[in-house]
Amino acid sequence: MLSWATTSFVVIYPVISQSRDIDQRRCREHARRGRADVSDSFKLSSLELPTSSWWLSQEAVSASGIREVPIGLAGKEVMSGAPSRRPNSSALGHVVVVGAGMVGLATAWFLQEYGVEVTVIDREGIAAGASWGNAGWLSPGIVTPLAEPSVLRYGLKSFFDPAAALYIPPTIDPGLWRFLTRFAMHCTMKQWKRSMEAYVEIDRQALSAFDDLANGGVTSPTIDAPLMVAFEHAREASGFRHELELIRHAGQPVDVDELSRVDAGALMAHIADRMELVLQLNGQRYVDPGEYVNSLADSVVAKGGTIRKGMCARTISRDPSGITVELEGADPIRGDAVVVAVGSWLNDLAPSLGVRTRVQSGRGYSFSVSTGQPVRAPIYVPAARLACTPYRGGMRIGGSMEFRSVDAPLDPTRVDAIVKAAKPVLSGVDWESISDVWVGSRPVTADSRPLIGATKVAGVFVAGGHGMFGMTLGAVTGKLLAEQMITGNQPGALRAFGPLR
Ligand SMILES: Cc1cc2nc3c(=O)[nH]c(=O)nc-3n(C[C@H](O)[C@H](O)[C@H](O)COP(=O)(O)OP(=O)(O)OC[C@H]3O[C@@H](n4cnc5c(N)ncnc54)[C@H](O)[C@@H]3O)c2cc1C
Repeated sequence: MLSWATTSFVVIYPVISQSRDIDQRRCREHARRGRADVSDSFKLSSLELPTSSWWLSQEAVSASGIREVPIGLAGKEVMSGAPSRRPNSSALGHVVVVGAGMVGLATAWFLQEYGVEVTVIDREGIAAGASWGNAGWLSPGIVTPLAEPSVLRYGLKSFFDPAAALYIPPTIDPGLWRFLTRFAMHCTMKQWKRSMEAYVEIDRQALSAFDDLANGGVTSPTIDAPLMVAFEHAREASGFRHELELIRHAGQPVDVDELSRVDAGALMAHIADRMELVLQLNGQRYVDPGEYVNSLADSVVAKGGTIRKGMCARTISRDPSGITVELEGADPIRGDAVVVAVGSWLNDLAPSLGVRTRVQSGRGYSFSVSTGQPVRAPIYVPAARLACTPYRGGMRIGGSMEFRSVDAPLDPTRVDAIVKAAKPVLSGVDWESISDVWVGSRPVTADSRPLIGATKVAGVFVAGGHGMFGMTLGAVTGKLLAEQMITGNQPGALRAFGPLR
């Protein structure tokens, strides 16, 4: 009789080899689409889409009337700066960072502070993943675990409703169901409090890490502004208030003012009259995320780093002389250490490094609109699950959490659902001006904690899985991980985030 362990092996092996095939196909598919991006530019009609164009199926493009504008810089483009003159105080001569999003570039930047030579590779380009169209809030005051009892209640209520803010498509993907089961198990107050306590120290350091970047040459600004949390009925605020109490109780300071609609209106014309109560969460910031991450990339290059676009990592392996990253369609690249910072694509590379936690893509959508008056601060409408941010003279509006494949095409019905939810709660918005329609994937873990630190392969590190807060925590993640790589000591703030947990 086969033992349980033997049965598992027989069942699991084909799954593993199949997933390698999928990874290789994904890289090849990327290379092919990257080439198509150049020649297929400017398809169709009214809305502009400066995003990774393969998120849109042709049917979706035609149905939505969206005009596709490729930003995925195809080809093996290289950006390289003059070698850094900073003395290298570590044993790491050269580090390869896979992924040119907020997290990968911040890690590269802080490694350079120790004099390390860095090469950042990305299968597409800078900010090609979630780091472009997100809401840009740097809001450590509300960095809290996603898994909590009310999310579970909402999820069960909205199950399979394509217009709901949280959407789980009907699918037989066993990986997704395993993730959802684990996620549901973490939707208890006990687990929430445990994860919340883990966040307190990293949250505390989040904004000062952005100051380090600014002082070291990153020119795109981080803008001080409160987060305005708006409620149609004052009673709806009780859940949010309770959460703020729990955040305080966990040890994280929260500074909130309560504003009537009239007071809030004097500050912000964009919160509709029907909103009865606004809680003003002080001490937060925001950025233009695409511009910010590009400015971070410029700074990495100015400090002597190299950024290579159109390079898709397939596998990572170690031998006595260093670590090799095998690339699709290009020569391998070697380093003394490697950081894997590939956001929602982490499952492609991390399992072979001993990382068992699945990263599920929680896809969100955004678009920008014109507003008559400038928007002075980010607005959050919890009931409609809307995130609005001042953006290039108008406003970016984002929302939705879709547990779906990271590479699935953009679904225009989700965008419609956000517009429908936003119209009654915002004023002064020109709804004819929608542009920059985008979908991106939050890298979500079932226990709501990121994966930052060493893997079982010596010299290979992972940085990702920040879910809804990878911009806010991106800079501090890079700073603390660089410290760990150089000193060999895990900073206290990273203790709960080990990738091998
Ligand atoms: C709608 C929405 C709103 C959000 N709003 C906020 C917010 O207001 N504040 C906040 O803090 N966070 C927000 N987030 C979350 C935030 O965007 C993410 O957590 C963050 O951008 C993740 O950054 P990253 O660097 O880990 O991943 P990404 O930005 O996704 O970067 C990963 C990179 O890896 C590359 N890559 C993937 N596979 C490979 C490979 N095999 N080889 C080479 N390169 C590869 C990709 O091309 C990509 O460029 C939001 C997310 C969404 C979707």
